[in-house]
Amino acid sequence: MTQHVPLLIGGEFVQSETSQWLPVTNPATQAVLAQVPCATPEEVERAVDAAKVAFESWKETPVGERARLMLRYQALLKEHHDELAELLAQETGKTFDDAKGDVWRGIEVVEHACNIASLSMGETVENVARKIDCYSITQPLGVCVGITPFNFPAMIPLWMFPMAIACGNTFVLKPSEQDPLTPMRLAELFEEAGAPAGLLQVVHGTKDVVNQLLTHKDTPAISFVGSVAVGEHIYRTGTDHMKRVQAFAGAKNHMVVMPDASKNQVVNSIAGASVGAGGQRCMAISVAVFVGQAREWIPEVRDALAKVRPGVWNDPEAGYGPLINPQARERVLDFIRQGKDAGADCVLDGSDCVVEGYPDGNWVGPTMFRNVTRDMSIYQEEIFGPVLIALEVDTIEEAIALINENPYGNGTSIFTSSGAAARKYQHEIKVGQVGINVPVPVPLPMFSFTGWRKSFYGDQHAYGKQAVKFYTETKTVTARWFEDDIVTGPNMTIQLS
Ligand code: NAD
Repeated sequence: MTQHVPLLIGGEFVQSETSQWLPVTNPATQAVLAQVPCATPEEVERAVDAAKVAFESWKETPVGERARLMLRYQALLKEHHDELAELLAQETGKTFDDAKGDVWRGIEVVEHACNIASLSMGETVENVARKIDCYSITQPLGVCVGITPFNFPAMIPLWMFPMAIACGNTFVLKPSEQDPLTPMRLAELFEEAGAPAGLLQVVHGTKDVVNQLLTHKDTPAISFVGSVAVGEHIYRTGTDHMKRVQAFAGAKNHMVVMPDASKNQVVNSIAGASVGAGGQRCMAISVAVFVGQAREWIPEVRDALAKVRPGVWNDPEAGYGPLINPQARERVLDFIRQGKDAGADCVLDGSDCVVEGYPDGNWVGPTMFRNVTRDMSIYQEEIFGPVLIALEVDTIEEAIALINENPYGNGTSIFTSSGAAARKYQHEIKVGQVGINVPVPVPLPMFSFTGWRKSFYGDQHAYGKQAVKFYTETKTVTARWFEDDIVTGPNMTIQLS
């Protein structure tokens, strides 16, 4: 019998009463793994209510107790690491090793949330005026909401709810309807770790559920990760409803290859960073910019890509898996057609990719274009598939100008052996996450995930100190304790003395 994915409301896993169900499929076979509900408005309302009730006691819970919940959760996640990765691989199609990375990068955020006491410390200045002290404290907001994409079903939910809950909030998660099994297993383990009922709710569905959470009077903070169009809608609607919103959106990430770089490192790094996970990473390298003589390495990059073979999750030789669904595959194939029609050279074409034994999988083979101009759709838009564009320029200045003109600003990298070139690049590039000889520079949780421009809408980013700022209010206290009762008369100025 097909599994029906439950909702988590008030500590109970419950079946939705909805009549609208969507299939969750294995992208390598189209086999239906489960049916996921589109929660009814009443169920979404119950989820927010349960979170609201739980907030009243959780916000009073000592910080050490909140940290200990995260410690227990971290231990359970580690214990179930491979099991989570297997589930994740089946519903996303990721290779087992890549799926393990998805889970692990999430666990690291939970580890970071264990430090919540130090992270949420306020500031104190004694004697801001005579015998007057000033200090700040951080307090949670209430019911926070997380809306997550399909491409990291473990890591991205774990960017959000552990930090929010460690700060003293409660949470409603709306995971991607395309791979909800991994987030549900994360939620089960959170309950098993001893989370009090109502700390975390999980509701499923698509835009109606999202819009209800986004406009609800009792949800003061919204975290979103997904595509640009939806991110813009989330940011506009959420802020229009006077909420704080952080919306992480799409990307077009460039790697600059200087002629003094190590060629082998360049070739291997581009291959992994461009078609790894089928290019379905918001930090994937989709454009390689070869500077000067480095253009001579383009044929070797092409040959390295040609050797990467997609396959099923448990094939140890597979470089990456299928795309998430047939529409995603069709979309990528359409971009490849558009590139060819516009006159770009398709030096490697993965359009007709077949994987033996899996005729129904959403396969696209590694693909590479040369002679691409900036007005072409394959350069302008996020393809989100295993497609690399190779551009050629003469100087680092040209490379920097090109990238700064691109509207996205999620990640970038430069490969060089020159400290001066690397320093110039990190300083002048208008992108939020820069790798120096590191192709996919996703920051660890002691920092924050800091996309810029069209790749992020909001102020405070995910995890790290910025997440604590996002999920709390700062209260500043100015305090004086009288030692005597000398009356000096009213102070009619605004000065403290
Ligand atoms: P998506 O925007 O289609 O979906 C994201 C979430 O929004 C899902 O939960 C979905 O149910 C919901 N949603 C979809 N349409 C909606 C609508 N009209 N109104 C309200 N909610 C809606 O994104 P996706 O395809 O799941 O994920 C891929 C995208 O996410 C890519 O663009 C990728 O670059 C981006 N992404 C960005 C980051 C980052 O940190 N910047 C990280 C991962 C993924």
